[in-house]
Amino acid sequence: MKAIVVHQFGGPEVLKLEEVPTPKPAAGQVLVRIHAAGVNPYDTYMRAGTYAVKPPLPYTPGSDAAGVIEAIGDGIKKVRPGDRVYTAKTVTGAYAQYALALEEQVHPLPEKISFGQGAAVWVPYGTAYHGLHHSAEAHASEIVLVHGASGGVGSAAVQMARAMGLTVFGTAGTQKGFELVRHEGAHQVFDHHKAGYQDEIFKATGGRGVDIILEMLANVNLSADFKLLATHGRVIIIGNRGEITINPRDLMLRRASARGFTLWAITSEEEKEIHAGLIAGLENGTLRPVVGKELPLAEAARAHKEILEPGAAGKIVLVP
Ligand code: NAP
Repeated sequence: MKAIVVHQFGGPEVLKLEEVPTPKPAAGQVLVRIHAAGVNPYDTYMRAGTYAVKPPLPYTPGSDAAGVIEAIGDGIKKVRPGDRVYTAKTVTGAYAQYALALEEQVHPLPEKISFGQGAAVWVPYGTAYHGLHHSAEAHASEIVLVHGASGGVGSAAVQMARAMGLTVFGTAGTQKGFELVRHEGAHQVFDHHKAGYQDEIFKATGGRGVDIILEMLANVNLSADFKLLATHGRVIIIGNRGEITINPRDLMLRRASARGFTLWAITSEEEKEIHAGLIAGLENGTLRPVVGKELPLAEAARAHKEILEPGAAGKIVLVP
């Protein structure tokens, strides 16, 4: 089979398309024929060798894929060959024509969800779900600001928060992004590159502030975020690429809080709940993954460059 293989950490050019043996499922494993693999920002940090999780070399990147069960090992009860699934992590890596996964890493992909969309489920929607439900404990009637709503996590969070009954504000940096965020359900959209846009957001709340901020770029926004919060507001730090100075008094005045998480650290109970929630949302149409770009597997390096560039519009997926 063809797979992307990384032999050394480095720039996007270390992603090499190679011919490798197709793996065989051992007991408790399944082999998935991959139709699409999702590209996430953390894939680029891992490839660069700067991420907290460093895989042993060589490795094939990718946790998010969608495809069809090709073969199953002994003891598998949940799926059968021919079943459509999405993956939440894999054993051998998603940037390939086939991947081994543990039985608990594959989940049913509803008929109405395409393989491209299925590759956009796990990290983006799992993060949005954990951020809104477990971290923020969001409830209907609250105001959420999805700070960076045009990308994978942001567009997922907009759809989910809207379906939960929150008032949804979203930000983006391009015309295409504004349109996408509005289309996915945001009540109001703001330009995170425009001077004074935070004042516009504050005004839009009638001077009350927002209850929740899902933050995609904390090293840029965290200090200003605190000033946008209502009493008991909370900032959920999802994305961060550096350091920032904050004034804790901004939290004290509002009895507010900031929390962070990584999806890697959630419990198996939380993960079980997340998949049940996501599958229900995919089935009932409230969750509709947005695929902005499909690229051939051979163009993984291009995908890794583009995912870090401004102008997000949903997900980038690789098609083997
Ligand atoms: P993505 O698809 O590349 O989207 C990036 C988003 O950030 C876009 O909406 C982009 O908007 C926005 N952005 C750019 N400049 C911004 C600014 N000044 N203020 C606010 N937003 C800005 O990435 P993603 O998959 O959604 O992930 C978003 C971040 O969360 C990444 O840093 C990722 O590593 C992190 N993440 C963390 C977890 C976790 O477990 N904690 C899980 C998933 C993702 P425009 O392009 O329209 O300007």
